[in-house]
Amino acid sequence: MDSVTPASGIARGLLGAIGNTPLIRLERASAATGCEILGKAEFMNPGGSVKDRAGLAIIQAAIADGSLKPGGTIVEGTAGNTGIGITLVANALGFRAVIVMPETQSQEKIDFLRMIGADLRLVPAKPFKDPGNYVHVSRRLAEENNWVWANQFDNLANREGHRTTTGAEIIAQAGRVDAFTCACGTGGTLAGVAMALKAHDPRVRITLADPMGSALYNWRTHGTLEMEGTSITEGIGQSRVPANLDGAPIDDAIQVTDEEALEQVFDLTIHEGICLGGSAGINVAAAIKVARAMGPGHRVVTILCDGGSRYQSKLFNTEFLRGKGLPTPPWMAA
Ligand code: PMP
Repeated sequence: MDSVTPASGIARGLLGAIGNTPLIRLERASAATGCEILGKAEFMNPGGSVKDRAGLAIIQAAIADGSLKPGGTIVEGTAGNTGIGITLVANALGFRAVIVMPETQSQEKIDFLRMIGADLRLVPAKPFKDPGNYVHVSRRLAEENNWVWANQFDNLANREGHRTTTGAEIIAQAGRVDAFTCACGTGGTLAGVAMALKAHDPRVRITLADPMGSALYNWRTHGTLEMEGTSITEGIGQSRVPANLDGAPIDDAIQVTDEEALEQVFDLTIHEGICLGGSAGINVAAAIKVARAMGPGHRVVTILCDGGSRYQSKLFNTEFLRGKGLPTPPWMAA
């Protein structure tokens, strides 16, 4: 088999199926702003999110530097999507994945991780400064067991993977890009894409989109790590500056509320048939703000991080949303 070169339309296994996602023109957002708003369809990755790319890049780097050996174990602290990406890639390559996750994340992600055979360790949600925080738990497990620690927040293989795949694909697909915006968990996506786009055309504007309850807006705007408010979005928002964001070419930052994100999630579902998760809603709302600030005729790119079915029990649950004082999908009103 190995001596046969695959035809150009054939992806080689799981690894070959990660990335090369479509860049979708969002019709209503484009019409409303007079701009072209394009979303990179990361929900179409095999594991259902943008984090398949980080999982693959981190595992490939660990194999390359010799730390991850055949049959070895890789451990990571994650909001869930990185755990899914790492577990799938580990399954395909014969490694073992141990996934540490705060128990507050969506039941759908927890169920998915169990389904694909992850060794899942749920921990209570704690702030980063607490030693019980999921990131520290995963680091200690790596140290105690001599496992490889994926360390997605500070491992620069993460943003490098996005520079060479997500960023390079956007340039090849869109040609001219006037602005790029997305929210940050590790910052790997924003930093990697920003580095690729700025190297291609230094005039591109890079805007960090931040949910409420995250410190990154104030970090970029005022140089402080203050935060206020809360968000039901998962996988984004930070109380510190991960190494993946450090030194990234970011021009400015904007804040986006859950109400603004949900409006996009609901509108895209019912009017365009594109059903997305909350962080993608933040990103589309941010792209609209960036487009309005720039004026008509510009091309603004963002990331559609994962799909709505991953958060059905929250984003599409009227009881949950009403309990948080948030808007509900108009077509689901009882
Ligand atoms: N959206 C979702 C749903 C995620 O799981 C993540 C990763 N935690 C992100 C956005 C942010 O991506 P990054 O870590 O590259 O900043």
